[in-house]
Order: sequence, then C-alpha cells, then structure tokens
Amino acid sequence: MACAARAPHALNSFVYTGLPSRVIFGAGSVKQLGAELDRLGARRAMLLCTPGRAESVQAIAKGLPIAGVFDRVVMHTPLALANEARKAATDAKADCCIAIGGGSTIGFGKAVALTSGLPVIAVPTTYSGSEMTTIWGISEGDTKKTGRDPKVLPKTVIYDPELTLDLPASVSAASGMNAIAHCVEALYAHDGNPIVSLMAEEGIRALTSALPKVVAESSNLEARSDALYGSWLAGSTISTTSVALHHKLCHVLGGFGLPHAETHSIVLPHAMQYNRDAATDAMRRVARAIETVDAPRGVYELEMRLGLPMKLADIGLKKDDIERAARIAADAPYPNPRKVEYAPVLELLQHAYEGRRP
Ligand code: NAD
Repeated sequence: MACAARAPHALNSFVYTGLPSRVIFGAGSVKQLGAELDRLGARRAMLLCTPGRAESVQAIAKGLPIAGVFDRVVMHTPLALANEARKAATDAKADCCIAIGGGSTIGFGKAVALTSGLPVIAVPTTYSGSEMTTIWGISEGDTKKTGRDPKVLPKTVIYDPELTLDLPASVSAASGMNAIAHCVEALYAHDGNPIVSLMAEEGIRALTSALPKVVAESSNLEARSDALYGSWLAGSTISTTSVALHHKLCHVLGGFGLPHAETHSIVLPHAMQYNRDAATDAMRRVARAIETVDAPRGVYELEMRLGLPMKLADIGLKKDDIERAARIAADAPYPNPRKVEYAPVLELLQHAYEGRRP
C-alpha cells in the first residue's frame, strides 16, 4: 500500500542569520586549548575566572603561554571591574583572553573584547549559553546596559563535560533552566525562524532529559555532555532572535538584585502561562520536547523535580516591589506574543512571587 505523502509545511518568509562559530566538543577536549591558541596566533593569553577557581583554571592551562590571571570575576560585569580586567590584560600585553567558567566569566571576556578587540576563547562550565551569543552586558550601579556586537563572540568555544563534573547541582539546575528559557522564547520570538526553532526544541529536549540525571548524580558524564549540548543550542537560539516578556521581566528583577539563573527559572512557567494562548505552536513544541501535555505546567514540574526555588519571595523579592516591576515592564513596550499590559503582568508576578502551579 502506498504511503500518503506528507503535506509540505507552509513556511512564512523569514530571515536567518548564522553566526560564525567554532565548537570543540567532548570529554577531554580542553586539551585542545593550545592548538586553538596557535590557530589564533596567540602567544600571551589572559585567563579569566571567578575567585576561588584560579588554581583549577591554572591547572587546566598548564603548559600554555599564559600572560596573567584575572580571578576577580563577579556576576553582572560591573563596569569598574571590567575596566580592571581590561587593564590587567593590557598590562600583561595579552593578545587573547581565555574565559573558563560560567556566564559571568564569559561576560567579562566579552567586556574586555568589546573595548580592546582581544579575541576570546570560551570554555563554559555552566549551561548559561552566553558563549554562543554576541550579547554583552555591563552594569553600573543598579542598571545593566546590554547590547549586541559581533566583536564579543568567542572565536572558539570548547565544551568539555569533564570540567562540569564539580558544578554544584543547584547551579547546574538553575543555569540549565536559564538555557531552557532561551529556547522557549526563541520558539515564539517575533523574528524566529524554522532553523532556530529546530535548535530550540532539541535544546529543550536535551536539557530536560539531562538535568534530572545531573542533579541526581553530578558525575554522570553522559548527562553532563547532553546538558552542555543543550546549552550550546540554547545559546545559539538567542544569538539571532529577540527575547520577549520573560527575559525582560527577569532583567527588571535582576536590577532589584535578584540572582540571574534562579530568577529565570522561577519566572519561566508563569511567563509561558501568560503567553500560552497567543503562542500555541511554541507551547506544542515545548510540550513535545519535555514529553508532557501542558507546557507551562510541565516546565513548573520539571523545576520541582530539580529541587529549584519556586517562589520569587524565597530569592529576595520584596512584596512591595512587585507592582514596581510590573509597571516598569508594562511601560516599556516590546514584541511579545500577547500584549504586555500592567494588570496581567502584575498577576503573573504575583503568581511567581507565591510559586503558584500554573
Ligand atoms: P555564574 O557564571 O555566575 O556561575 C555561578 C557560580 O558557579 C559561580 O560562583 C562560579 O564560580 C561557579 N562555577 C562555575 N563553573 C563551575 C564549576 N565547573 N565547578 C564549580 N563551580 C563552578 O552563573 P551563570 O548562570 O553561568 O551565568 C550568569 C551570568 O551570565 C549572568 O550575569 C547573565 O547575565 C549572564 N548570561 C549572559 C548571556 C549572554 O548571552 N550574554 C546568556 C546567559 C547568561
């Protein structure tokens, strides 16, 4: 019996921009750092890392031409400290930066690249996905400026799951949900396209399958590999599409001092609930990737399984700030599947504050 031909899927017109990227993936791949420096013609590399990780980072770079180590990376790239990192690189006559760490460390590499043009090699050890994007962020006081510049895109990204075996379960889970949030918003981005949607759905699938295993057994190399693969895809999705209500709300809450990845995780199911009826195809794809029926509820239940904080109240949001956050979000219009309006955004934030199940 002849099979019925599958009807071709009608495609709307779209623009897809591929970013130049070079990825070295796999257990032990950090051994290729030296070859990647040679490829760039770099002879004096500046290492970047968070306090306390200098020793392990220097061990990773043993035998390589290291000109200096800047180990004072903190979250949100404060301008003064980013300037110090650039000065340290200049003083050491560095011709390249190697950022080994999470989104914060890679953010410092990008800040140095933005003002000095130094090439960056990124060795991510969390699931933030920042290494695949041209997005930089620099904070001053309680405001964070962000922008996109091809100059900050790392020249090579080395994903070595062995370097993530010591990443604590709570950081793994939160940064993994941050990556899932990139994928969800890419699926309903106003400038999304079928290629990015493929990566987004696959990224959610890989992370959803890997994160519970990573949390249960942090040394599970296979699960660590899958999670890094998912975070690579997640970073790639936001590198060329716009973010919407979820990211904007998290940006506002970040300005109130809330931690980045946990805020993304808590707000995600509620932002999805907000957009659910206006982004049905995206919700269907998320549900398919996490093997559930209802996408917002499925994401909420995944977070519960990962032992993540579920209430904004528990990560430092003050009740009095809910209205202010809703007002800031509603007053700055931007593309989102459902119109962004004060009253429903306030309700969303109240649900996230209380950790209510969607
Ligand atoms: P992070 O980089 O702040 O790291 C969290 C903690 O994990 C740090 O204390 C770090 O020292 C520790 N850590 C990292 N790797 C480790 C390892 N292998 N073992 C043990 N501890 C380890 O957190 P994050 O969630 O990766 O990044 C958050 C930052 O990234 C935010 O500032 C956010 O704005 C930024 N970000 C940027 C983009 C972008 O495209 N520009 C995308 C996502 C996130």
